[in-house]
Amino acid sequence: MKTYDLLSLQQLNAPYAHELKEAACRVIDSGWYLRGTETEAFEREMAAYLGINQVVGVANGLDALRLIFKAYIALGRLQPGDEVIVPANTFIASVLAITDCDLVPRFVEPSISTHNLDTSLIEQAITTRTRAILVVHLYGRACWDEQLVATARKHNLLIIEDNAQALGARTDNGVHTGTLGDAAGTSFYPGKNLGALGDAGMVTTRDNELARMVRALGNYGGNTRYIYEHQGLNSRIDEIQAAMLRVKLQYIDSENQRRSHIAQQYNTSIDNPYITLPQLPAQPHSHVWHQYVVCTQYRDAFMQYMRNNGIATAIHYPIPPHKHEAYKAYNTLSLPLTERLANEVVSLPIAPYLTDDDVEYIAQVINRFEIE
Ligand SMILES: *Cc1c(COP(=O)(O)O)cnc(C)c1O
Repeated sequence: MKTYDLLSLQQLNAPYAHELKEAACRVIDSGWYLRGTETEAFEREMAAYLGINQVVGVANGLDALRLIFKAYIALGRLQPGDEVIVPANTFIASVLAITDCDLVPRFVEPSISTHNLDTSLIEQAITTRTRAILVVHLYGRACWDEQLVATARKHNLLIIEDNAQALGARTDNGVHTGTLGDAAGTSFYPGKNLGALGDAGMVTTRDNELARMVRALGNYGGNTRYIYEHQGLNSRIDEIQAAMLRVKLQYIDSENQRRSHIAQQYNTSIDNPYITLPQLPAQPHSHVWHQYVVCTQYRDAFMQYMRNNGIATAIHYPIPPHKHEAYKAYNTLSLPLTERLANEVVSLPIAPYLTDDDVEYIAQVINRFEIE
């Protein structure tokens, strides 16, 4: 029987192993491991790829988001206690970044067709304390529309993007996620579409003052050695991870195109009344398919059936942020669409190394799933 992991990092990186090893050796031999030429080159190459002027490499995606909020607070553009609109249907790290900076999350329900923030519901969640919106491009689908921009403009709200899952996605008119709002945090966790070989992340913005502050706050609170204006963190990208990312950045568009092709093939080939397929985007490039997520009311049975057939599946995410013990104060909130998705979503294997035959095989297994 063929078997499939949800994602094999070994298979994912195998095509680049030679280049990655060469890059790692270059860093090892250089004797320079932080804040050096690899980081500089990575930031420059990423800025060119995205079409933005400021890229700041940091230690991970959560830090990228925390540093953005901390920098806005240090600059006096946000105050502790301010409210930030956030999709209720997201990974907990989006919310952790908000609460870690003593800001207050205001959870807004998703659209059932995209699983992303329902931008028509933002307006009614705004209070006199609301100062920002954290949009999440969940599963790799760009979350951006006129209503979001108009609401933010009308209420003078910052738009911050959680771009952890969507590197390479573009809006219908071709603008990259990570460059749409006032600032964005991206993760290079190994399983993300552009994955390092360890932890890494970045902040992107067109705001030079913000970028400078993020850089200082990620370097103990100052940009000059032993001179500190702020109480910062240590959150930098390693030279070795910057070198790994420089290799993999060259292939991100072709990898994302392959993911998009696989998603389209799944949507064409899977035909089972118990399984609801994700909606394809109007423009293929506006979804980079970090996850391919179906819905079913028979999730336990379906996942067990897939396991019996050698195919791994996963749940992104089984418990929404407001239902975790970490957020007791929000446990009683009622967010029925978010809670329904948490009960019904299942992620199927999706990775650039899967062949058309693999995808067809997985789809045919799914098509034979039945409820007795
Ligand atoms: C992965 C992820 C993060 C956090 O990134 P790390 O690099 O793991 O810290 C934040 N938000 C979302 C939506 C993510 O998927």
